[in-house]
Amino acid sequence: MLTRIEPADLGLQEAAELIRRGDLVAFPTETVYGLGGDAGNASAIERIYQVKGRPANNPLIVHVPDVAAAQSYSAGFPLIAAAFARAFWPGPLTLILPRHDRICPAVSAGKNTVAIRCPDHPVAQELLQASGRPIAAPSANCSGHTSPTTAQHVSDELGGRIALILDGGPCQVGVESTVVDVTGTSPVILRPGAITQAMLAQCLIAAGFSAQVTVLTRHAGNTADEPLSSPGQLESHYAPRTAAYRFYASDIPRLNAFLLKKRHQRIGLLCLEGFAAPPTMAKILVLPAAEQACARGLYGALRELDAAGCDVLLIQCPENSVGVWAAIEDRLRRATKELPV
Ligand code: AMP
Ligand code: MG
Repeated sequence: MLTRIEPADLGLQEAAELIRRGDLVAFPTETVYGLGGDAGNASAIERIYQVKGRPANNPLIVHVPDVAAAQSYSAGFPLIAAAFARAFWPGPLTLILPRHDRICPAVSAGKNTVAIRCPDHPVAQELLQASGRPIAAPSANCSGHTSPTTAQHVSDELGGRIALILDGGPCQVGVESTVVDVTGTSPVILRPGAITQAMLAQCLIAAGFSAQVTVLTRHAGNTADEPLSSPGQLESHYAPRTAAYRFYASDIPRLNAFLLKKRHQRIGLLCLEGFAAPPTMAKILVLPAAEQACARGLYGALRELDAAGCDVLLIQCPENSVGVWAAIEDRLRRATKELPV
């Protein structure tokens, strides 16, 4: 299949038509590019899993244009969900809600909940309006690999497997949405993102709730076959193709021992601004010290480093896990292996 990249304004009507007839389209959102299909069409959903090679136990996020649509595709909209939606939609926040029958069971990977988000990107909004359909859209990459933040990244990942990519330029946020389960008495963050724990907590206080926002703790060693309470929490995800190891600023002795052992190999380094990079690297990329700029550049940098022909990659994870750094650390940790001792 020939994959075309079209400027979003020119390709929009065709994209809406493809969605309506059960085909897939890649499109930009403010977080990352999505691979979209009609959330009410079982064969479109099956095709999303197939094109990505996504494990059947990892459910999809449904994109809707507004709160009213979110309410109509969920079988209940708790008061806390309404407060979050009012404060953060349209935006990079996904709410886990009870699933309505209008959403295909396969979207939810057999669970009785559904993940819903209202994106803050003009092209995503226009596609939702023009198609008139709720659009299930995971990140437009092969399962487990680095997410795409430009149309070219999508083409590099899925070229030949989908007909159309809408090009809306680079994504502004750069990491996937915050996922929050609001089906219990207090909200639980299942995946950190640009809407931070502090922002959610502040919203609850302002709306008069006494509930606390908690963060799902890490599971050790989840594999693709297990039934997962939080399916996206796979230990290996977002990974480059080149072997990649993580380190923290406090790991310098271990890092030096590793470099000594690998001194005959081409090593690529992705570090944070301010890190004193060892001189022996074949390629060095530096991420900005400001959290939002760092998130925005993250996946592009991982891809550039992955394409640099190195034998091994070393990736610096932030030690700071406040704010958006929590999301950056989460993605980099899952994209890499622990530095060997
Ligand atoms: P992606 O589409 O690649 O951004 O990933 C979607 C994320 O939302 C993954 O972490 C999923 O596990 C999570 N997710 C989607 N639906 C549900 C659900 N019903 N319950 C829990 N997590 C979900
Ligand atoms: Mg993804």
